[in-house]
Amino acid sequence: IVELKDVRKSFGDLEVLKGVTFDVNRGEVAAIIGQSGSGKSTALRCMDRLETIQGGSMLICGHELHDDDVDLKSLRRDVGIVFQSYNLFPHLTVAQNIMLAPRMVKGMKQRQAREIADTVIAKVGLREKMDCYPEQLSGGQQQRVAIARSLAMEPKLMLFDEVTSALDPQLTGEVLRVMEQLAADGMTMILVTHEMAFARKVADRVIYMRDGKVHEMGSSDILRTPATPELAAFVSESAE
Ligand code: ATP
Ligand code: MG
Repeated sequence: IVELKDVRKSFGDLEVLKGVTFDVNRGEVAAIIGQSGSGKSTALRCMDRLETIQGGSMLICGHELHDDDVDLKSLRRDVGIVFQSYNLFPHLTVAQNIMLAPRMVKGMKQRQAREIADTVIAKVGLREKMDCYPEQLSGGQQQRVAIARSLAMEPKLMLFDEVTSALDPQLTGEVLRVMEQLAADGMTMILVTHEMAFARKVADRVIYMRDGKVHEMGSSDILRTPATPELAAFVSESAE
């Protein structure tokens, strides 16, 4: 469902992705880990074509992202992305936030959009907050609404970029539980995370990025028994 081959991306003179290659199969959870500045967010943003790539090839849910004429609308239906900042619309209720894209992008009727909103809000455990405004919710609750809003588009692939980094530990736990449930439901997910324990538990595949390349990749066992000294050092630093 996801195939990156020798993907390259520069910002001006700065080469940020220096030939990134990996696959993710349907139903898999892949965790991308690595030092700050190693290109994790850039790689993720390329997968939703928020950035264009300059070399290599990238196939995401059947869309060839290296093509200039990629159908962005169709890509964005297939791929949901959630960031550290939740970016909910403050003047809209939870229900309205969730229903917006299904109505505007998919042209869904109010009633059908509401049904979907009811389903996805239940998935994130916030049914009682449907008519609240974002400012009435905790950070963790807002993040769960942001996840629900993505799910409302019924994506084939979900991308998460450090969605818990802004949250304190208790709220982080709530959001991770939602993501764990999504994984258990069979959603294909790629997440950039600093949560090593979560990666160890949930990820089928761990991708360690270093300096714009995949330095080590494998099952979550590589977090226990890293093959390279760099990953070993990264894991022990993260445990501190
Ligand atoms: P972090 O863990 O801090 O989030 P990251 O691995 O996600 O780091 P990226 O955000 O992908 O790292 O950034 C990789 C490099 O690309 C950094 O050196 C960053 O400064 C640079 N970079 C990212 N976005 C841009 C941009 N829009 N313009 C110029 N340089 C950028
Ligand atoms: Mg980042």
